[in-house]
Amino acid sequence: MLTVSEFESVKAVKGTFQLGGVRMNVYMYLVDELLIDCGPRRLQKEIMDFLSKESYTQIILTHHHEDHTGNASMLSSEIPMYIHPEGLPLCRARPHLPLYRRVFWGSRKPFDAKGIEHRFKTKHHTFDLLHTPGHAPDHMALLEKERGWLFTGDLYVMSQPKSIFAFESIPDVIQSLQKVLSQDFKTVFCSHAGILQNGRRRIEEKLYYLLSIQDQVLAKHNDGKPASVIQKELFPRRHVLNYFSLFENSSKHIVTSIINKEGSR
Ligand SMILES: [Zn+2]
Repeated sequence: MLTVSEFESVKAVKGTFQLGGVRMNVYMYLVDELLIDCGPRRLQKEIMDFLSKESYTQIILTHHHEDHTGNASMLSSEIPMYIHPEGLPLCRARPHLPLYRRVFWGSRKPFDAKGIEHRFKTKHHTFDLLHTPGHAPDHMALLEKERGWLFTGDLYVMSQPKSIFAFESIPDVIQSLQKVLSQDFKTVFCSHAGILQNGRRRIEEKLYYLLSIQDQVLAKHNDGKPASVIQKELFPRRHVLNYFSLFENSSKHIVTSIINKEGSR
């Protein structure tokens, strides 16, 4: 199901579905004829119906994941589509998604985009493109300085994650959060949490939480505790997604991404 709302001149397009009692939200945004992300294949019919009635002349993808790019191969090749250069080979390749991600979002077909960095213009706005890896190597946030808007893709999602994916890195997310917080912005447009008018505070909350987790992990690591023990002490509970994903999503990756980065310093 799709629901559309508006904030200032930004259209927020929210896709919702349920699977096994887990409710998933995913957002795309439309502003000044720019489409930001194009949603998962699972919502293809609703999204293509919606887009057929909208006018957009450019598309930008916050990163290559299938819930943001699932319909990219369906969109007209006459409309330029952009992604961070690190995402280009990832988009051209056929993704090998684990079963639970194919079931949640649907897979996606390979597609071609153009690489972009630094800055992006629409008719009425200029967006600074902030390379913000940690969740994905090609992840970008879009900053509209004059309006105080920050489109954060999957950089935020929640303030206090208790588990992450195997491909994510807490130290890199921390750096990316610090990078966006060095800029002026007020409203956050998140791909899963929606529009956050107190967005700056929510991003700060996430940064402080992760810094505190990082300190605790390193203190225990320096005491000689193995990762499995640190994981049990800091994150004793497990979430349904941990099991669904066969632990591709797990608190273990929070601990190991911090220890591995420390070891490589
Ligand atoms: Zn993602």
